[in-house]
Amino acid sequence: MSNPTVKCTVDQCTHYMPGDQCMAAKIGVYNDEIAGESTARSDTQCKSFHLNSGIGDMVGGLHNANISGTLKAAFMDGKQITPAVECYVNYCKYWDQGNYCNAREIHIAGPNAAKTPDTNCNTFEAE
Ligand code: SF4
Ligand code: SF4
Repeated sequence: MSNPTVKCTVDQCTHYMPGDQCMAAKIGVYNDEIAGESTARSDTQCKSFHLNSGIGDMVGGLHNANISGTLKAAFMDGKQITPAVECYVNYCKYWDQGNYCNAREIHIAGPNAAKTPDTNCNTFEAE
C-alpha cells in the first residue's frame, strides 16, 4: 500500500495548480467505461477531472479541494502536495489490491481535455 506523487499537466481542470500539481483531496483513476478495461494509456482516465469553464466554475471543484490549513501552507511554501490516489485499472502493473497504485509518481495528462475520457494516466503500463 502506497500513494504516488501526482504530477498533472491537465491545466483545463479546476483542480490544477501551477507547478503541475493537483489540489484535489483525492482522485480516482478508471478504465475506459465502455470497454471496462485498459490496454493502453489512452484507455485510462482521471475521473476527478472537472472542466474549468471560467472563473465562476472555480467553485465547482472546491468540494474536492485539498486545502486544509497545513496543505495550504505547504502549497504557499512551494512544497509538493498530492492527492490520495484510488485506481481501478487492475490491468496496470502498478495496480495493487485495494485499488492502490504502487508507482512512485504518476503523470496525469490530457492536452486540450474537455471531458473526463480525454484525460489519461501516462504512467500506465500493461501487466
Ligand atoms: S485532471 Fe485529475 S489529476 Fe489533474 S488536476 Fe484534475 S483532478 Fe487533479
Ligand atoms: S500507474 Fe497504473 S496503477 Fe497507478 S494510477 Fe496509473 S493506471 Fe493506476
